[in-house]
This record gives sequence, structure tokens and C-alpha cells, in this order.
Amino acid sequence: MTTKQLNKRLSKKVQAIQPSGIRRFFDLASSMDNIISLGVGEPDFVTPWNVREASISSMERGFTAYSANAGIIELREAIADYMSSRFAADYDPETEVLVTVGASEAIDVGMRAILDEGDEVIVVEPSFVSYAPLVSMAGGVPVAVGTNIDTDFKVTAAQLEAAITSRTKAMMLCFPNNPTGSTMNREELKAIAELAERHDLLVFSDEIYAELTYDEKHVCFSSLEGMKERTVIISGFSKAFAMTGWRLGFVCAPPDLLSAMLKIHQYSLMCAPTMAQYGALEALKTGMDEVYRMKQSYKQRRNYFIKSFAEIGLTCHTPGGAFYAFPSIEKTGLSSEQFAEKLLMEERVAVVPGYVFGSGGEGHIRCSYATSMDNLEQSVERIGRFLKQF
Ligand code: PMP
Repeated sequence: MTTKQLNKRLSKKVQAIQPSGIRRFFDLASSMDNIISLGVGEPDFVTPWNVREASISSMERGFTAYSANAGIIELREAIADYMSSRFAADYDPETEVLVTVGASEAIDVGMRAILDEGDEVIVVEPSFVSYAPLVSMAGGVPVAVGTNIDTDFKVTAAQLEAAITSRTKAMMLCFPNNPTGSTMNREELKAIAELAERHDLLVFSDEIYAELTYDEKHVCFSSLEGMKERTVIISGFSKAFAMTGWRLGFVCAPPDLLSAMLKIHQYSLMCAPTMAQYGALEALKTGMDEVYRMKQSYKQRRNYFIKSFAEIGLTCHTPGGAFYAFPSIEKTGLSSEQFAEKLLMEERVAVVPGYVFGSGGEGHIRCSYATSMDNLEQSVERIGRFLKQF
């Protein structure tokens, strides 16, 4: 068949979307030996044993059928308790909590629930690579608002306001941020809340890294005055609980939005995996000590990494959360893609070129410090040697 014939088989929406730049790069890295990878966006810990055991036990007890579409009620209650006690955000487990297949599904059903063809969603970038494609696939138009290192990758209400049009439906925020590790404090978020109110916008707040903040406590967007009714909180178990492979996330949102998302989830996914939900229930009930232990370990590694970057002449803001550093490579004169490819070929260190994260990402690389101290030390040595040629 000709390319034209093949293209006719696919929807225009899907054809317009590029595969994730992260994948393309890692296919290249996976074909090489002796690579130190700072590329992966996931914890280097195995899920704590008591969580795995609870899931195994659920299977032993025969809990292998579908659960309620929104998730087992015990887990929804535990999520509501958790959001209330950790982040002062109160939700009704019956009508305001949905258990999803990862935060990824939560973003997808969220966008599909609110968007009509041509509606705009402001996406604060650099950002997690899924937002813009998921907005597009839901028929919407992603409108990028770029942040930069001069403001520690925080976004201001003025920047957001400049991007608002009559078609703007929502803003997509993510703090602590992937890929920059940037966080926003209460005052900074309040300015955005005021803007959302004034323009009657929805706010999608991806708070999957909420537990992983190292300098200040995380502020949940829906805990800000008046925000609960217009906020969709996206979160999940992948990061803080080291459960990426379990594919378990959740949404907290007002009942009208939640029931719209539930409708889509019910038809496309039915429910999140039942045995994973029992694991997650245990994680919330008894897993917080493990979360703190892992967090302390990330913090120690962050401190080492940032100090070492300064020593080898790599400009980097101090990331307040998540497990990524996002140093500037501008002074090398290379694009982020050229830098990442050359570093991989010459020193066998895999990082992610910043351009894949959208506006504001070019001129940077994302380095995950969720890897062993030994790997971090070796990667600093290799990157330091690499930089001497510029
Ligand atoms: N949001 C952000 C900001 C992320 O970094 C990720 C994973 N990299 C996700 C959502 C998706 O997480 P999940 O594994 O829960 O689908």
C-alpha cells in the first residue's frame, strides 16, 4: 500500500500527534552498553513489601473480579481521608473521587469530559509530555505558556492571563513539576486562583509529586478558598509510593465533573485493576513511613546533584520537588537534542533533551536523580569531562 493509502486509515487527529520524544531517545540508548541513565521518570525503589503483600493477599482471597466503576469504596474513602489529612482538601468518597488507570488516564478522561471541538486549554510548560496530545485528541487546542529558569520555572497570573481567549476552558498546572522540579507556594497559587475565578476557568492541577517536596510543604490547589468547585486534582500512586507498574491513579473533582469523567471511564476502562486497588489501599493505610523514607533519600540525592552541578559549571535552579534537575546547557551552544545525543555517544550518559517538554524546555536537559548514588557520582564525573570541550 502507498503512504497515502495507509494515512487514509488513520484519523487526522492521531496523525497530527508526534510520538513522545522521550521514547525515541531511549530506543537509541537501549541499544548501547555501559549507559548510565538519568532518563527515566520513575522511582528506583521497588514497591514496599506490605503493599505487594496486600495485593497478593487480595488475589489469594479471590478478589479477581471487576470492582465498582469508580473503584472499591474502601480505597475511595482512604483517598478522601488522605487528601483531607495531608492537604486539607475535603472530598466525598461517593461522589467526588474516581480511581483511574494511572494519573495518565485521569488526564485523558478529564480532557474528554470538558472539551468541545476548538476549546482551548492553557498548558504551562515545560510540562509532562502527555498534556498537549491529550488535549488535542479530545478535540481541544493546547495553548502553551512557557516558563523559564529566571523565574525558577514558576508561572505568573499575568503570563496566564495574556493567553486567555474567549475559547479558554481550563488551565493545566503541575507543581511540583515534571521536568523542572519547580514548586509554587500559597501566595503564588492564590494569584492564579483569583484569575481562574475572574475568568470562570477550570483548573487541572496535576499533583502526582505532592508528597515529594523538599523545602516547603505542598499546597493543594483545591484547598485554596473558592477553588474546590472549579478544580480537578490529578494524582496517583506511581511516584511517592513507587508503584508505576501498578497503573493506579485518582481524580478528585466536584460531582458534576466527576460523574462526566466516570461515564467515559466506565465505557473505556470499566475499572482500575482490582488487585492493584487493594495494594493502594494498604499503601494509604500503612505506607506513609516508607514514603518519608524514600523522600529523605531523594532529598539527599537532590542536594548532592545540585551541589555537584555547580562544581562542574552547569547552571541549575534548585528543584523544590519531584526527582528531576533541569540544568541549562545553553552556554555549550548546542541544542538540547544535540547535547543529549553527543553526551550519550561520547560519555554514555542518557538524559532527556528539554525541547520534548515544550515551550521553555529548549536549552535544558532533564536529569532524573531517582537512581543510585553511585550512578549519580559517575554521571557527574562523565558530564564534567564532557563539558570541558566547550
Ligand atoms: N503526571 C506527571 C507530572 C508525571 O510525571 C507522570 C508520569 N511521568 C504522570 C502524570 C503519569 O503517571 P501515572 O503513572 O500515574 O500514569
